[in-house]
Amino acid sequence: MTITAGQVVSLHYTLKNTAGEILDSSEGESPLDYLHGAQNIVPGLEKALEGKKIGDKISVTVSPEEGYGLRQDDLQETMPLSNFEDPSEVSVGLEFEVEVNDNVEIATVVAIEDESVLLDFNHPLAGKVLCFDVSVEAIRAATDEEKEHGHVHDEDGHGHEH
Ligand code: ZN
Repeated sequence: MTITAGQVVSLHYTLKNTAGEILDSSEGESPLDYLHGAQNIVPGLEKALEGKKIGDKISVTVSPEEGYGLRQDDLQETMPLSNFEDPSEVSVGLEFEVEVNDNVEIATVVAIEDESVLLDFNHPLAGKVLCFDVSVEAIRAATDEEKEHGHVHDEDGHGHEH
């Protein structure tokens, strides 16, 4: 069985930057499951996995354009410090999730001045070259429901409302 659209793929992965520092890894955790062909993972990695089989190990370097996109300067916004539940917890470099138009985005605090906070809504990995080491652990056909939804369901079913 090789990886094509409509299959659920389980991966172990390590993500490094070009300096070789580990940014993220599934080591010591369950493999990451994703639905191939549904843009669940960054395009550069999804492309590289096409046609691979169980046991394959690949190393892929992904450009920002095929990763989390280029950084956009207009994705910064100022917010009053009082908007935060606990202003004393807010510090430069803090990353947190915000819901913007039904999407979960990651905001990063870039500056705090007086009573206002400058936030950056670029993905923390935007503009970065990504180096993935990936091993294919399992492949299975997606269910019709998974294909319809465009994502993987875990054994308990959904984990979401629709
Ligand atoms: Zn679903």
